[in-house]
Amino acid sequence: MVKAVKRDKPPPVEQSCYWLARRPLRPVTPLAGSEEADVGIVGAGLTGLWTALAIKELDPGASVAIVEQEVAAYGASGRNAGMLSETIDHGHGLAIQHFGSAEARRLARLGERNIAEMVVFLERRGIECDYEPTGRLTVALAPAHLEEARRAVAAAERLGLDTFRYLGRAEVQAALHSPLYLGGVVVRGGGILDPVKLVDGLRDEAERQGVRVFERSRVEAVEPAGAGARVRAAGGRLTARRIVLATSAYTHHLLPGITRRFLPLYDYILVSDPLTPAQREVIGWRGREGVNDGRAFFNYYRLTSDDRILWGTSEAAYHGNNRVDRSCDHSPPHYASLRESFRRHFPQLAALEFPYAWGGPICCTTRLTPFFGGALGGRVLYGLGYTGHGLGTTRIGGRILAHLALSRPSDLLELALVRRKPFPYPPEPLRGWAVRGVARALRRVDRGGRPGLLLRMLDRLGVGFSS
Ligand SMILES: Cc1cc2nc3c(=O)[nH]c(=O)nc-3n(C[C@H](O)[C@H](O)[C@H](O)COP(=O)(O)OP(=O)(O)OC[C@H]3O[C@@H](n4cnc5c(N)ncnc54)[C@H](O)[C@@H]3O)c2cc1C
Repeated sequence: MVKAVKRDKPPPVEQSCYWLARRPLRPVTPLAGSEEADVGIVGAGLTGLWTALAIKELDPGASVAIVEQEVAAYGASGRNAGMLSETIDHGHGLAIQHFGSAEARRLARLGERNIAEMVVFLERRGIECDYEPTGRLTVALAPAHLEEARRAVAAAERLGLDTFRYLGRAEVQAALHSPLYLGGVVVRGGGILDPVKLVDGLRDEAERQGVRVFERSRVEAVEPAGAGARVRAAGGRLTARRIVLATSAYTHHLLPGITRRFLPLYDYILVSDPLTPAQREVIGWRGREGVNDGRAFFNYYRLTSDDRILWGTSEAAYHGNNRVDRSCDHSPPHYASLRESFRRHFPQLAALEFPYAWGGPICCTTRLTPFFGGALGGRVLYGLGYTGHGLGTTRIGGRILAHLALSRPSDLLELALVRRKPFPYPPEPLRGWAVRGVARALRRVDRGGRPGLLLRMLDRLGVGFSS
């Protein structure tokens, strides 16, 4: 086992991320020479794989090839918390604010249907990813979070959903024994899974259907090639009628012009030693729900299949100048603050050790939902910006991109989040200052302060800041 947090120099993310570290080694085929496909995809994360599978479903004869800079699941798809939510919108209240009630209702239904279809797909294809349909729980640490919990239930009811239930103090503490919890909301739908097993299962299924996956092949450029486009890596190139960039928080490396539309942030996570039965007993958590607390910068947590606690923070780091690379994969200050917050929530487990620690890139938009579009006269397509909620939504993103790549009509293409781009972020150096200013203001609110002028103004503009 890798003792990531005890070394001077943390190990690479492939060893320090719990999900990636326990994955069996797989053979790797790099891109070499000249390859051709109907559709080429850059990025073997969930967006890339779901896009490939959706293309094969729409047109089984289409040839599809994926080019990945490291190995499948190297990006956020292999490093996330594995908490599968039925929402696409990062909160139904926000969706109503951004898109209006009718569109929010549509997104809510689509999100629920997406998870139901995904579970059937995984079962039918024999994809085993330790999925547990636990639902999720949001816990209130302060009276303001109780008000927010009531608003969340009301927003869900307004959209016709009966899956949200308000919990009082006794109920929430019965579910999860923390002295901090004042109440909360429990939501039926979604659950927890192992994200790397999900990626590997989807990749196996895609390969069974003839999709080629080239790894350790960093795409250095995307350029027009006749009526289509070509991607170039050090060892080879791939020419296709359409290229889909499924590169999430890395997309600006290939399309610098897109940087205004998203903010790359890093979330950090710890995973503990397995709990003993006695340790399980002192915290309850019989329902094994994925949990987050009600703060702007919240902790999120879940149990793994071998009863470890995964403990993450949405207090994401912006590393300046839109940096997304290996130098951002660890943050000792975040790890220290994660251990401290864990002990506050669960003092009865204060001695628990966390041998795994890592970070991963989140692709945020001001409206906290993804966006889609094209470049090079439509030869290149992209879909990104899941803002920390892509585990389920990437399946919808993949379907959208597949329809765009094959020029097929679909109701999905009528969604407001496909038709409209998010409000842009400012460029550097303003971007760095703005992020620090908003983060300071949100921390003040999390400590019990009232939202100041800056947050009220952003709220009015519908601009969010969270992973
Ligand atoms: C720490 C963390 C916790 C999270 N927790 C959750 C959660 O609990 N629930 C949830 O719903 N969502 C969560 N998310 C978000 C979720 O993981 C993402 O939204 C989702 O995985 C995005 O998938 P993707 O395929 O679009 O991007 P990625 O998985 O990042 O895939 C992009 C791929 O493109 C590759 N690539 C990039 N540039 C190039 C290039 N030039 N050439 C070749 N390949 C390239 C990358 O290596 C990568 O594999 C979390 C994310 C993080 C980082």
